[in-house]
Amino acid sequence: MRLRQFITFLAFSAAGFCLQPVLATAQEPVRVVATFSILGDLVRQIGGDGVDLTVLVGPDQDAHGFDPGAADQRAVAGAELLIANGLGFESWLERLTDAAGFEGRIVTATAGIEPLAWTEAGDVHEHEHEHAHEGEDHDHDHDHDADRAPGAGPDHHDHGESDPHAFQDARLVLGYIDNIAAGLAEARPGLAAGFSARADALKAEFAAIDAELKAAFGELPAERRRVLTSHDAFAYFGRAYGLDFVSVQGASTEAEPSAQDMKKIVEQAKAGRVGAAFLENMTDPRLIETLAADTGIRIGGALYADALSGPDGPAPTLQSLFRYNQATLLEALR
Ligand SMILES: [Zn+2]
Repeated sequence: MRLRQFITFLAFSAAGFCLQPVLATAQEPVRVVATFSILGDLVRQIGGDGVDLTVLVGPDQDAHGFDPGAADQRAVAGAELLIANGLGFESWLERLTDAAGFEGRIVTATAGIEPLAWTEAGDVHEHEHEHAHEGEDHDHDHDHDADRAPGAGPDHHDHGESDPHAFQDARLVLGYIDNIAAGLAEARPGLAAGFSARADALKAEFAAIDAELKAAFGELPAERRRVLTSHDAFAYFGRAYGLDFVSVQGASTEAEPSAQDMKKIVEQAKAGRVGAAFLENMTDPRLIETLAADTGIRIGGALYADALSGPDGPAPTLQSLFRYNQATLLEALR
């Protein structure tokens, strides 16, 4: 018996000894790179101290025009997990992962989300939707295919055929949370319980924000629902909450509006069919400022579009981004 106990003891010690470094690694934070501030915030909130996070495109910066540098390449080279929006949002990503020799996993946060197709820049929906915006049973899935250009014009060449800004619909953020939590859990199964608990709490928060926005915007009169912004960052938001966003630049902050697009927008504005214009936190404000001066449309403030604010600003988390945009829009449109 003594011998057997001794052998058992040896076996356990050996196992313990061998497992020790593995266990240490199993609890180590996941080295994650998130492509831009909004994703970085979700990763931080889901990952807690189970992630060692680097964000490439920071607060108030424009991911469309991002030009990765040497530090970004080093961050990606050292990462286990790269979390990207997908749907062509990060047109520079493949170039970056190639240059960095990245061999880890890429989590696409929009995986499984049914994307919207792009609308043309300055698409003003010439036909009015009398049936729309009539309240609770407003059909947000109303078929706009006739208005869309799924073939993508010359300005859309590096953006794919889908609108990537799905993070502007609080309901779709639930899908982002699931994808990020699953990616983190797969990278570090030993920390999966924490990831999953934080993800569940976060999903409850965004479901509540979604309901709150639907109720708040539902009270706006139909003729106060058209809004002008710099680029097409808010099509998902508009579909979810019943607003009609018209943009000057279309798909990307990099695109130049055509004279024809500008003319359509100016005509609309002069006809009093635009409730207010909004700047974006990460976009050059001059185009909207000029348009507002020319047409007399009121500028209702700046919306947080493709980036959060810094920690001292009004939208340092995705929850606060939704609440800030809601308050800014309603104050101007009511
Ligand atoms: Zn954008």
